[in-house]
Amino acid sequence: MAADCIFCSIIEGNIPATRVYEDADAIAFMDRTQTVPGHVLIVPRQHAANLFEVDPQAYARLFAVTAQVARAVKAGLNPPAISVLQNNGREAGQTVDHLHVHILTREAHDGYRMNWDDLHANSEQLERWAASIRENL
Ligand code: 5GP
Ligand code: ZN
Repeated sequence: MAADCIFCSIIEGNIPATRVYEDADAIAFMDRTQTVPGHVLIVPRQHAANLFEVDPQAYARLFAVTAQVARAVKAGLNPPAISVLQNNGREAGQTVDHLHVHILTREAHDGYRMNWDDLHANSEQLERWAASIRENL
């Protein structure tokens, strides 16, 4: 439990939330901002700010719960599609510093869009980026 963390407060039951699932490791509740019908958050009980702080095993467990809940959203609300989103850092759109995964129901032409414009990097650039990543694995 981190002081002044809104999601820790929800986990502790000090702030209300519309819960859809909980187990020993994680809880899922309705996002207060329903940008789409059925915007659900999956949150680990143990506080970690984001993926840079969490134990990789705990991160894997969070996504196992996400898969379970996302299938229930699909079966229960019957959207044609679902996106899973997980922001890490302000520039990525993270506003709550307690690790969480978004489940978003999707419809054709729903206006939700990531920027997929191609940088048209050449093969040398790709190799430099790949080498920088490999050096840190
Ligand atoms: P982020 O932008 O950090 O990836 O997502 C944070 C999400 O948490 C937002 O979609 C926001 O609507 C949601 N959120 C923030 N505070 C609360 C709250 O007190 N209750 C609920 N249910 N959702 C919250
Ligand atoms: Zn927290």
